[in-house]
Amino acid sequence: MNMEYKSFLIKYAEIGLKGKNRSYFEDCLVNQIRQNLSLLGDYKVTKEQGRVYVNCPDGYDYDDTVSCLSKIFGIVGFMPVVEIESTDWQDICDMTVRFVEESFPEKNFTFKMFCKRGDKSYPKTSPEIAADLGGVILDHFPGLSVDVRNPQKNITVEVRSHAYIYADGYKGVGGMPVGCNGKAMLLLSGGIDSPVAGYMIAKRGVSIDATYFHAPPYTSERAKQKVIDLAKQISLYTGPIKLNVVNFTDIQMYIYETCPHEELTILMRRYMMRIAEEIANRSNCLALITGESVGQVASQTMQSLICTNAVCELPVYRPLIGFDKSEIVEISQRIGTFETSILPYEDCCTIYVAKHPVTKPILKVIERSEKLLADKIDEMVQKAIDEREVIKIKPED
Ligand code: ATP
Ligand code: MG
Repeated sequence: MNMEYKSFLIKYAEIGLKGKNRSYFEDCLVNQIRQNLSLLGDYKVTKEQGRVYVNCPDGYDYDDTVSCLSKIFGIVGFMPVVEIESTDWQDICDMTVRFVEESFPEKNFTFKMFCKRGDKSYPKTSPEIAADLGGVILDHFPGLSVDVRNPQKNITVEVRSHAYIYADGYKGVGGMPVGCNGKAMLLLSGGIDSPVAGYMIAKRGVSIDATYFHAPPYTSERAKQKVIDLAKQISLYTGPIKLNVVNFTDIQMYIYETCPHEELTILMRRYMMRIAEEIANRSNCLALITGESVGQVASQTMQSLICTNAVCELPVYRPLIGFDKSEIVEISQRIGTFETSILPYEDCCTIYVAKHPVTKPILKVIERSEKLLADKIDEMVQKAIDEREVIKIKPED
């Protein structure tokens, strides 16, 4: 009997609760796991009796597999499983002993034994199997003891057509499988916040497209590359991302030349939202996503948010709205975007910032200023949209 882990059992909580839709969500999850693991090798992902199994190919890399599974939304936990073809009692006892022997280097912990029996004709009941195997473990490993109330480890044996054994395994990211809840357009800058915002909405099962505004030659190729890198990093979780790169230079200059400078940021933000919304509508996105958080900067006061929100018909998801910067930084470190986000490249918003931007803009006043742009702005907006560059970002690139 080779004790190597050949498969993983996938635990999913939330999507299990969806009644009639359960099967749809499970299929989304299975597809997502297949897609992500296909970058590593020829894994088999199967759904049987309300659970998902991953069978690993020969010579697979254990750590890579764990790292990949720990980035898939919808998985709350996963455990490496040892499986034997037989359900013969002596084989199950041998398997259990070898499992404990090889899975836990330190043999001095408390445990609780569980049994799930799919095969109801098996000569022992589940409680009997659990009790007997607990006894077998205690006989072999004198340092171990049973604690049914607060065990350090849970060990589960399943007896179905085959027998399986596993312990607690790894925590997954949770959430819902990407794609099961439609698509949204992320306004992705090179900062810390927007990649985290995209991650959070994708975690709820939403696929992501992205729009980035740059202002060449005032913003560099490196700044654009930084946004591409960020998109690539979040695509490890979200799957492929269609990144729209919009040239914002002319619009920005025109606003700068035409409108009061202290309103510049708000006016720019309004045009970003309008353009992102139009691209969103063209690509079937059902919402916009930004990294805004109340009060973080002048353009994110509640009054400013009224002004930016007013131009959108699609809902604007702002998952970070109630987060402190330190909390956002924590998530960005955990998901791996922080180091890229803090690279010091210029952002189009910071090029023309006024010394004293309005912090309490009044919508009517902003709308009046915007009328000054009437001559040329619609044409410029259309041109920016039509001439955008579309980059397909894939996690494997
Ligand atoms: P971030 O860290 O995400 O850059 P920020 O703290 O710099 O955010 P702002 O510059 O006010 O805040 O931007 C607020 C939101 O507007 C961003 O989170 C992002 O969603 C969007 N945004 C800002 N600049 C751009 C840009 N150049 N391209 C696309 N979206 C942008
Ligand atoms: Mg920014």
